[in-house]
Amino acid sequence: MNNRAAAKKSRRKLSANSTPVHTAAGIIGDPWSVLILRDAVLHKQRRFVEFRQSLGLNRATLTKRLSTLTGAGLLEHKLEPPNKNRFYVPTQIALNYLPVLLSMKEWGERWLLKPNENSQLDVYHTSCESTLRTELICTTCDGIVGARNVYAERPSADVKRPPSQSNTRASGNEPLEKVGICPIARCLSVIGDRWSVLIIQEAFFGLRHFDMLQRRLGIAPNILSNRLLRLTNLDVLTLTQNPNTGRRDYRLTARGLDFYRVPLSMRQWAIQSLGVADPLHFYHTNCGQDLEVTLQCVSCLNPVRLQDVASRPNIDS
Ligand SMILES: [Zn+2]
Ligand SMILES: [Zn+2]
Repeated sequence: MNNRAAAKKSRRKLSANSTPVHTAAGIIGDPWSVLILRDAVLHKQRRFVEFRQSLGLNRATLTKRLSTLTGAGLLEHKLEPPNKNRFYVPTQIALNYLPVLLSMKEWGERWLLKPNENSQLDVYHTSCESTLRTELICTTCDGIVGARNVYAERPSADVKRPPSQSNTRASGNEPLEKVGICPIARCLSVIGDRWSVLIIQEAFFGLRHFDMLQRRLGIAPNILSNRLLRLTNLDVLTLTQNPNTGRRDYRLTARGLDFYRVPLSMRQWAIQSLGVADPLHFYHTNCGQDLEVTLQCVSCLNPVRLQDVASRPNIDS
C-alpha cells in the first residue's frame, strides 16, 4: 500500500461530510504526533533513540505514536544494518506538513512565549540567511491570506458525526515541553486536540452559541464546555452577552483570528497531500478567487521550500 493509500485508509473512519480540517485533525490530532513530525521534518531526526531523547517519551508511548504515523502513511519504518536499529523516514505527505508546523510555531511565538523565554526552535531561511518568518499567500493574487480576508461558504448547518475518537487526548495538562521551550509544543499544549481546532473553525464560520456548536460538531457537552473554557481563558475566544437576545456569544479575539492560519494550512495540506475534496467554498476576498495558499518568507518574499529551511536547537536556552 502506498503512502497516499495508507493516508486514505486512515481517514476512512471519519465522517463522509467532513471538511479537510476534520480530516487533517483526525489523522494528526494528537500533540505527540505533531511533535514527532516537528522533529522529523524540521530537525531531520530519523532514529528511535533521537525521538526518545527530543520528546522525553517512554518507549511504549513513542512506539505507539510512530506506528500510528507509519500506518497513516506519514512515516516509513526502516531497519538500519548491521544492528537493525529502527529509524523512520518522513514521506512526502509528512514533508508537506511544513506550513502547518511553521504556522503553529509562529503563532506560539507571537502569543504564548513570554519575553524572557528563549525558544529552543530556531528556523532559518537559507535563501536569505534570515530567521524564518512566513505569511500565507494566495497563489492567484500573491496577497496575504488570513482570517480577515477569507470568505467561506457552506451548505445549511447539517449535523456532523463526531470525528474518530482514537488518539483523542485532552490537551492543556500535558507536559509537552519536556526537553526545552518550543513554541509548537506550547501551541499544542493549549490547542493541540482536534476539538479545539474544530471549535475555532466553527467560530470562524460564525457559529457562536454553545447549542449550535454542540449540534454541529456532535461533541459531548462536558467536553465542549471544557474546551470553550480553556479557549476563553487563553483569550482565543471571548464570551459576550448579546444585548438584544440575551444569548451568550463566543467570538474569536485578535489572537483567535490570528490562529486561523493554522486551520487554513491544515486545509491546504489535506487537499493537496491527502487528496481530500472540500465540500465548502473558500474565497480570497482580495481577488475573489477560490482559495489556494502557499507559504512565503516575509524577508525575501521567496516561496518557502523545505530544502531552504534549516533548524538548529538554540543551545543558549
Ligand atoms: Zn487572492
Ligand atoms: Zn527568506
